Amino acid sequence: MVTAMPEIVYWYFSFLCFCFGACVGSFLNVCVYRIPQELSVVAPRSYCPHCKAGIAWYDNVPLLSFLMLRARCRKCGARISPRYFLIELLTAVLFLVVWLKYDQFGGLPLGLAPLHDNRISLVFIYWLATGGLLLGTFVDLEHMIIPDRVTIGGVIAGLILSTIFPEMHGQSVYYHGLARSAIGAAVGGGMLWGVAVVGSWIFKKEAMGMGDVKLLAAIGAFLGWASVLFCIVFSSFVGAIVGVSLVISRRKAMQSRIPFGPYLALAAQVWMLWGPVIVAWYLNLLLWRGGTGLPV
Ligand SMILES: [Zn+2]
Repeated sequence: MVTAMPEIVYWYFSFLCFCFGACVGSFLNVCVYRIPQELSVVAPRSYCPHCKAGIAWYDNVPLLSFLMLRARCRKCGARISPRYFLIELLTAVLFLVVWLKYDQFGGLPLGLAPLHDNRISLVFIYWLATGGLLLGTFVDLEHMIIPDRVTIGGVIAGLILSTIFPEMHGQSVYYHGLARSAIGAAVGGGMLWGVAVVGSWIFKKEAMGMGDVKLLAAIGAFLGWASVLFCIVFSSFVGAIVGVSLVISRRKAMQSRIPFGPYLALAAQVWMLWGPVIVAWYLNLLLWRGGTGLPV
């Protein structure tokens, strides 16, 4: 059932979603900087990490201020990392794309999979999940850890939200939602935990961080067990390609540790946007191969 909304209103909302995403991205920047240092994310107000001068509101407008200031602090002229702009832009774009899954005209752009029952509640839940994945990604890239607030917090939030909004798992009864979420968390945590145990046993060193194990449990709690299988396959594949390219281009040594969290997060984001489309494509592929007698 597609609810009609005047097109101009729809695009206006789309623009608001982009702006809201940029603001959330701005907050995520604060979190990426402060959470690993165990600082409060609300107080004090934003300050320049170089000269510690407070940042005025007009120098703190997401996306725009970075461009206006040409990536330099107004007070001391220290360079502002392009990471700030990148996170704001990425969050804004992803928030917009998640919103676009809310079908208004009976057809979605970018081949996106529609929301279950076209429930708008899922837009807000996926925004929350997107924010958590971005936070985990950028903290992991910088500090090689994924904060428990993201991973354990994600498992708890996933279980609670799945109970209140069973449509997250295509269900309509609250305990079915909770059950799917719990199974997702157990499969996600369990499979990577198995890899971690077997890996450290074979290689005699830590092969997989517990942060990654907890992150996949959180992904499973939000997106279900099927997403976990996809995440393992997709993240290993992309991780292998990137890892090999880094070694070939001599930016990384063969033995150096590359964070795995960002690949899991990327896979989860892809699943969140296109999951059912990927399943349909895969099943089609199996059927087509089966039907033509080609080797499966
Ligand atoms: Zn400064």
